Amino acid sequence: MFRLVARDLAIDLGTANTLIYEKGTGIVLNEPSIVAVRFDGNRKTAVAFGAEAKTMQGRTPEGVKVIRPVRTGVIADFEVAGMMLSHFLAQARRKSRGLFKPRVMVGVPSGITEVEKRAIRDSIENEAREVRLIDEAMAAAIGCNLPVTEATASLIVDIGGGTTDIAVISLKDIVYSVSVRQGGDSMDEAIINHMRRRHHLLVGESTSELVKTTIGSAHRDYDRQEMEVRGRSLTSGAPASLLVTGEEIREAMSEVIATITAAIRQALENTPPELSGDIITAGMSLAGGGALIKGLDRHISEELKISVTIADDPLAAVVQGAGKCLDNEELYRDIWF
Ligand code: ADP
Ligand code: MG
Repeated sequence: MFRLVARDLAIDLGTANTLIYEKGTGIVLNEPSIVAVRFDGNRKTAVAFGAEAKTMQGRTPEGVKVIRPVRTGVIADFEVAGMMLSHFLAQARRKSRGLFKPRVMVGVPSGITEVEKRAIRDSIENEAREVRLIDEAMAAAIGCNLPVTEATASLIVDIGGGTTDIAVISLKDIVYSVSVRQGGDSMDEAIINHMRRRHHLLVGESTSELVKTTIGSAHRDYDRQEMEVRGRSLTSGAPASLLVTGEEIREAMSEVIATITAAIRQALENTPPELSGDIITAGMSLAGGGALIKGLDRHISEELKISVTIADDPLAAVVQGAGKCLDNEELYRDIWF
């Protein structure tokens, strides 16, 4: 059966993951923000997207590269980001089977330039009846059920793959925001460097991510965990594996965690007194995949003396917030642009 008008869609175009929410249905697409691209001189042709492209990482034929087009929050490769966005949107639309195009709400980084906004609109023009953009931090706050429309301040911290976005929101407005170019990816890199320096073991990106999500933490409580890590010995060149502890991985990640914590402290210091009073009372919310790092909520709350709430589903907070704007247009009017 075909619906006459397609249901509205919300998109989180993240540095690590892209999610699409369909009004009335829920999340209909959740894929890594990855494209396998064939290079022919100046011509680029996408050969695979999302999870399929991810499995090709490190094993592509000649001329094919696996790219993360939004790696650092700003759009690193417009052309490929546009191809990815329109591909995922078309995929979600085939499922939703509407005859007329949907309205689409896209979450974008706060620092986005006019040129980047134009590029996003252009890339999905053919798939959408109307394109609305919403600040990702605002969407994350709404996804965390923070009272963004009220005269009280909320602090949201969204730790993604490429960036950490921190925002203070009151009365539908972003009072203060900062985007730090450190997040889950830099923790993975820190683990790779640690394994190389301390153990002379070369490990790949997916291994270091697995180490992070398995025994990585921000608090001593998790120091006694252990894990076997496989890689290639830098001394013999042969495959090798060894046992690593939660403590050394926590130490390897600690510099990135400290940078993020310092940026949150600065946000609190830069917030006008009345608003920071609100934040001290309500506490802050943590979203994005990085919110799942063990003990991070405790670490931040001990360092900054503030209560920390983790989103119910940190990886989906942005798309759920953007989706809520579609569901409650009256309440959230003027929040998108
Ligand atoms: P983005 O919005 O930039 O796409 P996400 O919010 O999807 O980023 O988060 C992706 C990041 O979260 C990745 O660095 C990933 O390794 C990390 N991540 C996902 N699950 C966990 C977990 N359980 N523990 C720690 N980090 C995690
Ligand atoms: Mg994100």
